[in-house]
Amino acid sequence: MEPFKLPGPKARAIIERDHSVISPSYPRGYPFVMDHGKGTEVWDVDGNRFLDFAAGIAVASTGHSHPKVVKAIQDQAEQFIHISSDFYHSKWVEVAEKLDQIAPFQEDAISFMTNSGTESVEAAIKLARYYTGRSEFIGFFGGFHGRTMGAVTFTASKPHYHKGFFPLMNGVVHVPYPDPYHPLLSLRKGEDIGTAVIRYMEEEILGRILPAEDVAGILIEPIQGEGGYIVPPESFFPALRKLCDRYGILLIADEVQAGVGRTGKWWSIQQFGVEPDIICVAKGIASGVPMGAMVARKSVVTWPKGSHGNTYGGNPLACAASLATLDLIENQYMQNASEMGDYTLAKLGAMAERHPSMGCVRGRGLMIGIEFVKDPETHKSDEKLRDAVVDLAFERGLLLLGCGKSVIRVSPPLSITRADIDEGLAIMEEAIDLAEKGR
Ligand code: PMP
Repeated sequence: MEPFKLPGPKARAIIERDHSVISPSYPRGYPFVMDHGKGTEVWDVDGNRFLDFAAGIAVASTGHSHPKVVKAIQDQAEQFIHISSDFYHSKWVEVAEKLDQIAPFQEDAISFMTNSGTESVEAAIKLARYYTGRSEFIGFFGGFHGRTMGAVTFTASKPHYHKGFFPLMNGVVHVPYPDPYHPLLSLRKGEDIGTAVIRYMEEEILGRILPAEDVAGILIEPIQGEGGYIVPPESFFPALRKLCDRYGILLIADEVQAGVGRTGKWWSIQQFGVEPDIICVAKGIASGVPMGAMVARKSVVTWPKGSHGNTYGGNPLACAASLATLDLIENQYMQNASEMGDYTLAKLGAMAERHPSMGCVRGRGLMIGIEFVKDPETHKSDEKLRDAVVDLAFERGLLLLGCGKSVIRVSPPLSITRADIDEGLAIMEEAIDLAEKGR
């Protein structure tokens, strides 16, 4: 297909104004300036149509401007927009009741509402310290948990997340993430990378440098997001749960990107049959209205009145959007994520047979990563090729986002149709063809 000439004149003008007044710290990629969206389709201000395989970093879970979500927000806006967390309102309770019903714990769940992923992680860090009376934590290389001072300490995928911001929070040790495609530890006989990481944590970390009785929590993404859409081996989470139980350490699952139905189950940790103690939630929970939650097993939530709070927690517009979103996901889109995810994985698997640069295709549901490599034997990353594919796809009407060193993530709305997947993957393959030729 003929590529668009991007950015168009209207987009260019807005970008120019943006650059003079908006913080340069945002990691903007290519110049997409949104005008409006419907489902999986979005249009830029110059009238170009795109398919959205990024969903605003896995946020627009019900598609752009789903009529039921729009109606819920409109109705709530007419009733009242804000009251503050000093008071009560019914939709806030309804969201928490829903979260209690779907939380991955046998025990009852208590929710603390936030406005973003990083705040959900902050709340989990504070609660874990409060409940255990311990100060230390374990996080993982490649992890992304947000940018506020506590959460960014755990974030460990690129040096620029930390550069210029030291000293960070005290008390976080990082260990290798169980990445089967790039194992960071050498494996002993009979081990896979899942069991090797557990052995390393127990022998080298808890055995040598960090007394287990001082560790409050282990914070982990059950499927790593920004780090490269990495799926750990089946062996890992059951062993991690046992390790936490052995030492009284809380298992905190960061479900900000992978949760709320994206993988075809409510929570990505449920892919591994394990119960955490706390989950951190945001992104897809309210279809893009800023909203998050820290959801914990009831017996862990011992902090008293006044110990943690915020102004906007349980914001009525966010709660209304969330109730409509959770209803759509439960009744339609979680099943769709599972079916369309399998369909997409199978098509990408077949595409990888034709393109040796597609070194690894992996994922669950509609959280799929494609890792581009220079050589399928050595798994050496090809970041340049990945970037070229993203740019070429954009010019042909497909929004993609990278992650990890050389990965493209496929994280479309959970409402995506087979026809949209076919169209998007055809554009992606054309982009890969062109990028491989230009190597
Ligand atoms: N945790 C994970 C797993 C994430 O992917 C992100 C955002 N990419 C965050 C936390 C931070 O969320 P927010 O940007 O809403 O603060």
